[in-house]
Amino acid sequence: MACTKDYFTSGEQILSTELFAIDDFDKGNSLYEVVKILEGKPLFMDAHLSRLKRSAYLFQKEIPFSDKKTAELVEKLIARNGVNNGRLKFLFSYFGESVKFFSFFLKDITPPRESYKKGVKTAFYRAKRENPNIKKINSELRRKVRDFVSEKKVFEALLVSPNNIITEGSKSNFFGIKDNIVYTSPTKNILPGITRNYIFDICSRNNIPIVQKDILLSDIQSFQSAFISGTSIGVLPLSTIESNKFSTENKILRKIAGAYQNEIQKYLKHRIAEQQQ
Ligand code: PLP
Repeated sequence: MACTKDYFTSGEQILSTELFAIDDFDKGNSLYEVVKILEGKPLFMDAHLSRLKRSAYLFQKEIPFSDKKTAELVEKLIARNGVNNGRLKFLFSYFGESVKFFSFFLKDITPPRESYKKGVKTAFYRAKRENPNIKKINSELRRKVRDFVSEKKVFEALLVSPNNIITEGSKSNFFGIKDNIVYTSPTKNILPGITRNYIFDICSRNNIPIVQKDILLSDIQSFQSAFISGTSIGVLPLSTIESNKFSTENKILRKIAGAYQNEIQKYLKHRIAEQQQ
């Protein structure tokens, strides 16, 4: 996890990236968020701050900053680096009794435009995230998955639990579509994705049935389409899961993907209008 761009934040200070030391937070227990920066604005920042607080509550830790202060530190770092579009991580790292804030830019992993038409390849990876509702750094799993996807030449690994349930992607939520119904894992078993939340709203507003249920390995063959969702990737169709092929032209999938793009535009417009007041 490299720090890209010229500056990062340590505590309340903005420092040169030459001083960036990954060990500062990789060894502690770090609760984190990754935010997409569009037109210089942190997308859905309020939702990220809420999820961070929920992670802290479940992890029985305190967040030492107000939401306003965290958001201000993030906005300062965006401005200092002069970033318009990118990916920013912010985290609170807990070592014993102490806690420290860090924020820095990551490499952009948005797939090429073509992937949104043709879909991406995925493969199964056996792993269970402990306390799946908590967004906490797990360096070991991240490293293992990185090696796995590079070896398999796939875009994402779909996590399969010991009882053969496909829970979510390593960095995304998973959805299957069968006969105009969308299926996804129950919230208790996964990271409650911010993009996933928008997908639920979109489905509800458009009368698209969405069902939360355990998705078994054996269910895969019955899906006509499948997709993953996440902050960096948005709504991304899957062309394959292992050797199973899926249509990326499904009407419901296209409706959800388009509506999610509209939500992004709506949010940005709102933020820009707020700033001009
Ligand atoms: N599931 C896991 C394990 C993740 O790490 C992520 C993203 O970080 C997601 C799902 C998708 O969440 P979001 O839409 O908030 O990016």
